Amino acid sequence: MKQTIYAHFCGGETLEESLKTVAKLGKYKVGTILDYGVEGKETDEDFDRGCDEFVRAIKFSANNPDIPFISLKVTGLAKFSILEKINDEKKLEEDELVEWNRVKGRMHRICKAAYDNGKSIMIDAEESWIQKPVDDLAEEMSRFYNKENAVVYNTIQLYRTDRLEFLIKSFDRAQSQNFLLAVKLVRGAYMEKERARAVKMNYQSPIQPDKKQCDIDYDQAVDFCLSRIENIAFCLASHNEKSNLRAANFLLEKNVPANHPHIMFSQLLGMSDHISFVLAHEGFNVSKYVPYGPVKDVVPYLMRRAQENTSVSGQMSRELSLLRKEIRRRKTLS
Ligand SMILES: Cc1cc2nc3c(=O)[nH]c(=O)nc-3n(C[C@H](O)[C@H](O)[C@H](O)COP(=O)(O)OP(=O)(O)OC[C@H]3O[C@@H](n4cnc5c(N)ncnc54)[C@H](O)[C@@H]3O)c2cc1C
Repeated sequence: MKQTIYAHFCGGETLEESLKTVAKLGKYKVGTILDYGVEGKETDEDFDRGCDEFVRAIKFSANNPDIPFISLKVTGLAKFSILEKINDEKKLEEDELVEWNRVKGRMHRICKAAYDNGKSIMIDAEESWIQKPVDDLAEEMSRFYNKENAVVYNTIQLYRTDRLEFLIKSFDRAQSQNFLLAVKLVRGAYMEKERARAVKMNYQSPIQPDKKQCDIDYDQAVDFCLSRIENIAFCLASHNEKSNLRAANFLLEKNVPANHPHIMFSQLLGMSDHISFVLAHEGFNVSKYVPYGPVKDVVPYLMRRAQENTSVSGQMSRELSLLRKEIRRRKTLS
């Protein structure tokens, strides 16, 4: 795995090992979003160790302008079961309240380190049945740290039917409570799992009925942010060429500087280089998620990438055909 899929999608097993990738991207003006890819941990010791690693990553990148962001999953800092319980609005026991306060403490430690070192944190979105406490934590941190700059970004998954409304309400709250809303807009990575659970447990699936509706909401969310660019910071996190092109054209047409500090285009390492490098070359802010961590811990991430990239009509086959075309073009030049 290390020689193949891991080498393609990950920076390295450690921060230090990932520096080569960071520098390589930086050479082409593509920033790095450091993604400590460890998932599925369940003990307090693991979570404290994870928290230490996030803080170490922030300090490690403090003087490196090629690393503007650190990403994290709240499931790397808290038990899945406690997130599920809060999501279901169940009352926490005394010891669970203590545990939950420890989770908040970890989040504060990480966000404060980011604030002190001029970095931003991207909080990933996960399964809908734990997302409410993740959103609430992200908002609590944003209220605290996003006074002047966008330090904390929440993630909005537009494959959910209720998320466009959620974006609008989050913005209204940020405006009335005087902090800067910062969001990463994605379509969403857990579609099959979401639908399967809804069928199994017999409730209405939270996912859009089809791709078209997902794309409509994604476009509307991007437009909502673009037209409020002075008051929302956002990251367009997508491999969809049309979505990227639409936003880039919007900036050009409205004379918004391509490197406006409130917009970032992002893709994953090993995917859609034709989008990342072309946008960066044209002066837009671009960064790529660079996951790192021990091979065995990054497996769930790699499985999601494998799933995404095996569809025949998917992005990977399109990228492969673009690469072949480019090789042919270069051959005719030489
Ligand atoms: C930088 C970055 C950060 C990311 N962070 C997160 C994160 O925090 N949380 C997260 O969940 N995902 C995250 N993702 C993954 C993302 O949600 C998508 O899974 C992935 O990027 C594919 O969507 P797309 O816009 O790139 O491409 P597209 O090919 O345009 O869209 C594919 C996506 O469309 C949606 N879709 C496909 N078919 C249907 C259908 N029939 N009905 C409804 N919807 C459909 C699914 O979400 C699918 O993944 C991230 C992606 C990037 C690039």
